[in-house]
Amino acid sequence: MAIAEPAINRFWKKVKISNENECWPWLGRLDNCRYGILDIDGKGIKAHRFSYIVHYGNVPINPPDLCVCHSCDNPSCVNPKHLWIGTRTDNMQDKMKKGRGNHLRGINASKVILNENQVIEIKEKLKLDMKISELSKIYGVSRIAIWHIKKGHNWKHIDGKNNKECEEINWVGEPGAASSGKVDELTPNHP
Ligand SMILES: [Zn+2]
Repeated sequence: MAIAEPAINRFWKKVKISNENECWPWLGRLDNCRYGILDIDGKGIKAHRFSYIVHYGNVPINPPDLCVCHSCDNPSCVNPKHLWIGTRTDNMQDKMKKGRGNHLRGINASKVILNENQVIEIKEKLKLDMKISELSKIYGVSRIAIWHIKKGHNWKHIDGKNNKECEEINWVGEPGAASSGKVDELTPNHP
């Protein structure tokens, strides 16, 4: 797609550029997953994806599940040197390697990996005063693992409104979609 000059100018006004190897954080608003959002014609566009297109040209449309991924693991970064194209699977594997994926964020000390539904169940049962030792037997994980769930040390993401893995696929969101939920306003006068 052709990108209009004013959009590019607006983009740069919201980027904190530091040296070429450091992260360039987006100063505009962020979505729930902390990806920067640039508003163009009433549509929220992912700022890092916009950056990729400005620097390297269009993101290929085949295969259809291509993402613009971050080598720096910093969703709000728009430094083109930190952006690479990969499939959804590449992106997930990369996140897992870096410990950002669900499994690694979860109970990684235990051989048994609890899924999110089980963790929600455990939280419910803890609220009903079920004992840690009992839950550890039922779910086959260590008491420490249950204790961490109780204290909220792991699986904090389950308490968030949006449990699903943050995905970076849509080039153009629905109008207003990006502003639903919690929005961080880092600049007072974004358009
Ligand atoms: Zn970066």
